[in-house]
Amino acid sequence: MTVIYDRVALIGLGLIASSMFWGIRRAGLASEVSGFARSKATRDTAREIGLCDRVCDNMADAVREADLVVLCVPVGAMGAVAAEIAPHLKPGATVTDVGSVKRSVIEAVAPHLPDTVQFVPGHPLAGTEHSGPRSGFASLFDNRWCLLVPTEHSDAAAVARLRSFWEGLGSNVGEMDADHHDLVLAVTSHAPHLIAYTMVGVADDLGRVTDSEVIKYSAAGFRDFTRIAASDPVMWRDVFLTNKDATLEILGRFTEELFALQRAIRTGDGPHLQEYFTRTRAIRRGIIEAGQDTDAPNFGRGTVQK
Ligand code: NAP
Repeated sequence: MTVIYDRVALIGLGLIASSMFWGIRRAGLASEVSGFARSKATRDTAREIGLCDRVCDNMADAVREADLVVLCVPVGAMGAVAAEIAPHLKPGATVTDVGSVKRSVIEAVAPHLPDTVQFVPGHPLAGTEHSGPRSGFASLFDNRWCLLVPTEHSDAAAVARLRSFWEGLGSNVGEMDADHHDLVLAVTSHAPHLIAYTMVGVADDLGRVTDSEVIKYSAAGFRDFTRIAASDPVMWRDVFLTNKDATLEILGRFTEELFALQRAIRTGDGPHLQEYFTRTRAIRRGIIEAGQDTDAPNFGRGTVQK
């Protein structure tokens, strides 16, 4: 049990914040955790399930004494939240966030914060398709990366302390600049989500034609798409609105590759298809060797259905 910050405030009480709270409890990383969510329903749920030591009815009370303030709201809401908490922050406090996009969050948040606090943006690369205060669990961040994205004003001691905090939550911690982060995440997360949303949309259209056969005979590949496409609509709307350039860049490349594969199928170019799929299979092996996923068939879910 090592307390890294005496008091932590979580603003927004959904999947990420609730997982952070249970992780903080598990490792004893703070003496007190306060929390705030905008809706009474979420605050009531938080009180009912013991999420946070103190659930506050306004943001000012939640952050006033906090040594670490974590913004856990959708990316598009970060700026307004920063403006509201700014006058109430304790001098010497660190403000961080968990937003999935970094450049736009920095631009939205930094101008509101006083010079007396440190701003160290962050992004845990961990999540599920569930959301809300009941969806969190302590092990969400175990062995997952958390990327810290210090600004030019972040001081090294504040970054090091936040690093220890995330390590205490079970994460491996890396550092990146904001633009690089946004490009990497466009490749690894944002574009794949958009592709999953599209594929499920296409199947839904077909489903209407084939009277729900798409669901009934849903095979492993498609079921994985539906899991991804069940992710929170507001969060993902904001990701695409705020990581527009990088996502469009990657989707442009994706479309070119798709056309090349389409041509290979049309012209019966087996060697091209086989070479391509051999290369992609090696990438999957690399992910498993890096410990970022299981090599159990069907992600360890039991029966494999192709
Ligand atoms: P979530 O479960 O949907 O919770 C979001 C929280 O933000 C809720 O407490 C909600 O309040 C609050 N909120 C929503 N809109 C708001 C607004 N306009 N103003 C103030 N508060 C608002 O979301 P989450 O999955 O924890 O995501 C939170 C952040 O983590 C996002 O920035 C997301 O990009 C990032 N992130 C998510 C994942 C993931 O896989 N889910 C992974 C890494 C990072 P109410 O409950 O009162 O509506």
